[in-house]
Amino acid sequence: MQLPTTQRTEVVIIGAGLGGLAAGHELRERGIDDFVILDRGNRVGGVWRENHYPNLACDTPIELYAFSFFQGTNWSQNFAAGGEILAYLEEIAQRYDLERRIVLETDVASAQWDEDEQRWTVRSADGRAWTSRFVIWAGGLLSQPRFPVLPGADAFAGPVVHTARWRDDLDLRGKNVAVVGGGASSIQVLPYAAEHAKHVYAFIRTPSHVFPRPERTFGEEDRRRFVSDSSAQLAIRAKLSDEMEDIARARFPMNESFIESIETKWRAFIESAVTDPQVRQILTPQYRFSCRRPLVSNAYYPAFNQSNVTAIGSGLAALTRDAAVAEDGRTFEVDVVILATGYDAAGMLGRFHVSGRDGHDLAQAWKAYPEAYLGTLVKGFPNLFLVNGPNLGAPAVTEIVEAQTKYIAACIEYVDAHDVGSIEVKPHVHDDFNRDLQARFAESVLLRGGCTSWYRADGGTGAVFSHWPATIGLFKDSVASPDIEEFVITPRTVAT
Ligand SMILES: Cc1cc2nc3c(=O)[nH]c(=O)nc-3n(C[C@H](O)[C@H](O)[C@H](O)COP(=O)(O)OP(=O)(O)OC[C@H]3O[C@@H](n4cnc5c(N)ncnc54)[C@H](O)[C@@H]3O)c2cc1C
Repeated sequence: MQLPTTQRTEVVIIGAGLGGLAAGHELRERGIDDFVILDRGNRVGGVWRENHYPNLACDTPIELYAFSFFQGTNWSQNFAAGGEILAYLEEIAQRYDLERRIVLETDVASAQWDEDEQRWTVRSADGRAWTSRFVIWAGGLLSQPRFPVLPGADAFAGPVVHTARWRDDLDLRGKNVAVVGGGASSIQVLPYAAEHAKHVYAFIRTPSHVFPRPERTFGEEDRRRFVSDSSAQLAIRAKLSDEMEDIARARFPMNESFIESIETKWRAFIESAVTDPQVRQILTPQYRFSCRRPLVSNAYYPAFNQSNVTAIGSGLAALTRDAAVAEDGRTFEVDVVILATGYDAAGMLGRFHVSGRDGHDLAQAWKAYPEAYLGTLVKGFPNLFLVNGPNLGAPAVTEIVEAQTKYIAACIEYVDAHDVGSIEVKPHVHDDFNRDLQARFAESVLLRGGCTSWYRADGGTGAVFSHWPATIGLFKDSVASPDIEEFVITPRTVAT
């Protein structure tokens, strides 16, 4: 039997979503050419490949969501559809010569640090292996769909479909459909269900603050201009970024009067959009603005005015052969269940096993909840970098990712330029940073706003592990250049 060969490379990037592509782009910009990008999917694109439910679109205007180094030219509207974002990310892979380094259909099972060799060995589930000096994990915070435990699900006669595992053959016509969830995916898919199904039962345990979506459509002339000149797109990007910073300043620490002023605008919107006061009540969050992710839609609230849509102010507790049972005990006959129930962010590693210095196990280190330094470095894991790691969630991730991948590339350049075998964050730097994070959250609307959320551990009530606790400006300043004093530097002991 021929053993699979181990390929030698400088950097292994795990994940070919927005984060992994940004990392590859940044390495190439700096002339670091010897890397591979591994992804278990059959295309690049991450969440934009995995999700293809109806009405999927970004809820961050595309100028802010697309990269600053290439704004994209084929958009048909500012809240771009998922398919357009997927095509954009594929274009990034082509345009920046990343395609030939991407190895698809490669489910990475493990990464193991070898102190003697000062290298990582990365193995795929099917037995292939790569050895590299650096690993960049860009596996995504939202790549593990969360399936609620539903007693009776096995007996349910119809399909139960998670939005992240959408079935394109799902036909809702003439069907009674349960849509479960009150967050980002639910507000996109529900208007589609309302348009096509016989009746929709919206199981909403925790509603969101939904605001008008300020849509702009782009025609051929706009697209021609995007090709020749992206300055207008970049100007919008800068303006949107400033607006997001204002909101961040109101959240961290919590600014009562700012939040109240936005809640007043939201109340005016829902009152104008939803006619039935009882339905309005069900759709009214019992927590403060931006304790959970605020959302935008022009179609969600009006869907509840349709006679074929029933809002149920309760989660889904169980299924029977032909019905959905609400947590409050009511039963509704349904043919199809759509789970818009989000992701297991704390379980972001999935089955990927990481073993660092002295056998440190990343899943074990993250048993309570995931933690890192600047969302990038974890104590005990030399030459391992995370893209979009813990505590980097923000209204628009791209600015974070661009700044972060520059920081990672600068760390790699430092190691390459000096006689260094590995760098890792000093344990006290890591721990002080995380203490400071949680102190900031204690003053923020995320903790003071009266909600549970997927940003937090312990079923939404514990420490915040998936959000950045300040302005993006502060993040950019923090990662502007690596501070070598913060690192344990191990001299190089082996030739590379
Ligand atoms: C439906 C949806 C809409 C969103 N809309 C917005 C938005 O409007 N604005 C915003 O800022 N953010 C949005 N987000 C958040 C989104 O996650 C980020 O914007 C961004 O796509 C994250 O990119 P990523 O590369 O970090 O992760 P992902 O896009 O999840 O990519 C990770 C990749 O890693 C691969 N991978 C993971 N583990 C392994 C493994 N073990 N082996 C091999 N490959 C692996 C996956 O297959 C995937 O391709 C949205 C998320 C979802 C799910």
